[in-house]
Amino acid sequence: MDRVINIHQFMPDKVWKWNLLEQKIAQVLSLHDYQEIRLSVLQDYGVIHEGITALMQQDEATIAAEGIINLSQPNGDLSLLTLRPEGTISVLHHTAKIIKDHEVLRFYYMGPMFRKENNNVPSEFHQLGVELLGSESVISENEVISLGIKICQQLGLKDVNLHLNSFGCQDCRVQFFEDMRAYLTEHETELCATCFKKLYTNPFADADCGDVACTKAIMEGPKIMDYLCPNCRRNFSKVKKIQANLAHQYTIDPKLFKNYAYYNETVFDFVIKKNGTEQVIGGGGRYDYLSRMITGKNIPAVGFYLNMDSIFETMDRRELFTPLDKDFSVYIATQSEDLEMMLLQIAQELHDNNIKTVLSTDKHSITEDVALATKAQCELMLVIRDENVREGKILMRNLSKEHQDYIKLDGIIEAILLARKSLNKE
Ligand SMILES: [Zn+2]
Ligand SMILES: [Zn+2]
Repeated sequence: MDRVINIHQFMPDKVWKWNLLEQKIAQVLSLHDYQEIRLSVLQDYGVIHEGITALMQQDEATIAAEGIINLSQPNGDLSLLTLRPEGTISVLHHTAKIIKDHEVLRFYYMGPMFRKENNNVPSEFHQLGVELLGSESVISENEVISLGIKICQQLGLKDVNLHLNSFGCQDCRVQFFEDMRAYLTEHETELCATCFKKLYTNPFADADCGDVACTKAIMEGPKIMDYLCPNCRRNFSKVKKIQANLAHQYTIDPKLFKNYAYYNETVFDFVIKKNGTEQVIGGGGRYDYLSRMITGKNIPAVGFYLNMDSIFETMDRRELFTPLDKDFSVYIATQSEDLEMMLLQIAQELHDNNIKTVLSTDKHSITEDVALATKAQCELMLVIRDENVREGKILMRNLSKEHQDYIKLDGIIEAILLARKSLNKE
């Protein structure tokens, strides 16, 4: 039986699209003064564990920790390694070492993350993480939210919609948690065991299993919006007002929840349409309390992630990847072993003139070489033969025009440049 594991392997037909996606994202971020940082894929298990569970209750922490792919030995030694499940924790530790008073830092990172998904399947997924550190102003939230929308739009996902909610602050969420747990106890029979346990341990957990009865019970329960203190309420209104003024479509979603418990106040999702339903392709929020708990330094922060796999899949399905102008390239073949040195010399001469080559590595018939050159999407083919070389020339075949000519050995580059010009490849 095949081992069940979700990993990434991409061949060149997909890699050029990934490059394009990553370049476009980097371009937008650089315009907004975000700097790339490269985090290690291997992380200290203890540090990651502490970060993920920092603001959680015991039960909740156990559930969250189960998702980490732990590389330690089964002797319970937590000082060993884990594959990074997310980037925020490393970014905070890094930032705490360098940030100065009143300084604001903007970072982003892209790359694979690893977690156990449903049924404990080890999974690799690509993620963009963006973090704005050192500011608790509402404008920083709006900057980050707008940036996420901008990236999606620049990638061609024009239908991106913003879903907003607030998790309140440490003061106003206390009463909500209390009322939510009382409500859950009262309605325990209406919810499945999983939803009940998830929500009881973390009333902000993304718990909806899709079951009609569960959804109904959750929808009818207490809503955090009704518990916000005046300050949280004012901040949330400001976020809505600014986003409306920026003409960003948004939906208030009182059931927008997150599985990580470290968020406070504004939380958001980026949502697109897929087959008539809504698909979350990213999201984030404010996490002002996390740094103090794991680094000892108070760093108010707000950030978001984009699920690059979902974005890639959507862009591919919507045919949003337009290939860059294909390179002009020349196929070179020889039909004699004695001329292999000459083949490499000619290739070198072409490279010196920035012309891409595809070399024939084995002996083929001319028909086979034409087929291989066509498959490699070359425009021109050079064939080096003894009898021609003796006369100081080689054969140049124009594959798109199905036309061939002999060119002089001392005029190869000129002939190729001329042919390229006629193909409008300059
Ligand atoms: Zn509050
Ligand atoms: Zn349920």
